[in-house]
Amino acid sequence: MQHYDVIVIGSGPAGRRAAIQAAKLGRSVLVIDRGRRIGGVSVHTGTIPSKTLRETVLNLSGWRERSFYGLSYRAKKEISATDLLKRLHITLNHEVEVLEHQFARNGVITLRGRASFVSPEQIEVTGDEGEIQRYSADRYILAVGTRPHRPDHVPFDGECVLDSDEILDLKRLPRHLTVVGAGVIGVEYATIFSALDVRVTLIEARSQMLEFVDRELLANFTYDIRDRGIALRLGCKVKGIEKQGSDCTIRLEDGRVVRSDMVLYAAGRMGATRDLNLAACGIESDDRGRLQVDPHSFQTAVSHIYAVGDVIGFPSLASTSMEQGRIAACRAFDHHAPAPPAFFPYGIYAVPEISTIGMTEEEVREQAIGYEAGVARFRETSRGHIMGLETGFLKMLFALDDRRLLGVHIVGEGATELIHIGQAVLNLHGTLDYFVENTFNYPTLAEAYKIAALDAWNRMPPA
Ligand SMILES: Cc1cc2nc3c(=O)[nH]c(=O)nc-3n(C[C@H](O)[C@H](O)[C@H](O)COP(=O)(O)OP(=O)(O)OC[C@H]3O[C@@H](n4cnc5c(N)ncnc54)[C@H](O)[C@@H]3O)c2cc1C
Repeated sequence: MQHYDVIVIGSGPAGRRAAIQAAKLGRSVLVIDRGRRIGGVSVHTGTIPSKTLRETVLNLSGWRERSFYGLSYRAKKEISATDLLKRLHITLNHEVEVLEHQFARNGVITLRGRASFVSPEQIEVTGDEGEIQRYSADRYILAVGTRPHRPDHVPFDGECVLDSDEILDLKRLPRHLTVVGAGVIGVEYATIFSALDVRVTLIEARSQMLEFVDRELLANFTYDIRDRGIALRLGCKVKGIEKQGSDCTIRLEDGRVVRSDMVLYAAGRMGATRDLNLAACGIESDDRGRLQVDPHSFQTAVSHIYAVGDVIGFPSLASTSMEQGRIAACRAFDHHAPAPPAFFPYGIYAVPEISTIGMTEEEVREQAIGYEAGVARFRETSRGHIMGLETGFLKMLFALDDRRLLGVHIVGEGATELIHIGQAVLNLHGTLDYFVENTFNYPTLAEAYKIAALDAWNRMPPA
């Protein structure tokens, strides 16, 4: 039986970073993944494919040019499912190659198979042909991620009723897509398909969607997507989904009925812990398959077993998962790793993008912090005119007493890139004066920071 310093189960963002970090600390590392190729949900069914699809849709549909050339403008007249998937395969292959190279350069060994514990110190790995091998390690890092929640009452068929993995094997474009679940994934796909001029209905059981987003920002976003024709059904529970030939009927608990030719069910994900045989190592998962860890060390109840990434729950992002993996590997081998900064950015790659960091206006009010808000619209920037942007909004919140930045909230083109300026100022404890006194490249969308800061400055007490 082979022994390693650390065995990492899962090669998604969390496992990948954990493995590379441990290798850089001079440890022997084995990464096990049951997937056909390494990379995890992030590379094969989540982050990278959905963002590639988005980019393809925006390019082929001529979305960014429509304010100049009219709503009927298209870069490609007839867009098919094949057009959408072509770019996907090229991007994914490239991502996997980079990852394989990274593992090889750092001496990380990879193994394909399904891992499960036989004791707290040993695992067995089942290969494709059912062959079983045993391995042991001083430390384990569980980075097994999540899988789509597929309730029994939803008649998934991979063609008309799909989960968020299956939507990437699309055989045809829908005429009318119903998306169940207005979380990040549901909102992203709903707006991406709407940009292709597919009719979209978005259904959410809760009365609010994207609850963690600043309300004013969300109001802008909601107005924008409704204006584009997305039918939003908030506070509506799905009672049942029936298939009749190639059509689906979605019955809501309030008696309303939605008919469409495709349903994307994107209401929740479950921790992928089912195959791990956790009972053999003394760890328990919750009712959604997730693991509990110490938030600083990422240790589970069993001290030599760590868990990172989506399997430990919020915030379930590739970006945060990578950091958790890196920190867990450092902590596992007593290498100093400072705690991550207080604030991390949230990126929602809808059309338009949303990105946010720090406190929302609602949180600032709840904490009774005296504050002032500054707002800029992208159409107030020269870059916005050049790009023909009709929407786009940036809001910053500043404390009245010491002028420090409290939060940044952006919706519009490039929001997920722009947010990093706000992130740097926020985590370095910067103030309103940074934005007022510094020169920004011109013409840029980043100029919106200065405009928003000056807007707040008009109402702030003198420094
Ligand atoms: C549609 C979609 C869009 C997303 N968009 C974004 C985005 O824009 N930005 C962002 O930051 N995040 C995004 N995410 C979230 C992001 O994909 C996840 O946060 C990230 O993949 C989590 O990484 P992970 O390492 O925890 O696990 P995963 O990436 O889920 O990888 C887990 C791996 O573990 C393997 N595994 C599981 N069990 C076993 C076992 N028993 N034995 C062997 N191998 C096993 C699996 O095969 C898998 O390869 C998106 C997710 C989805 C679904």
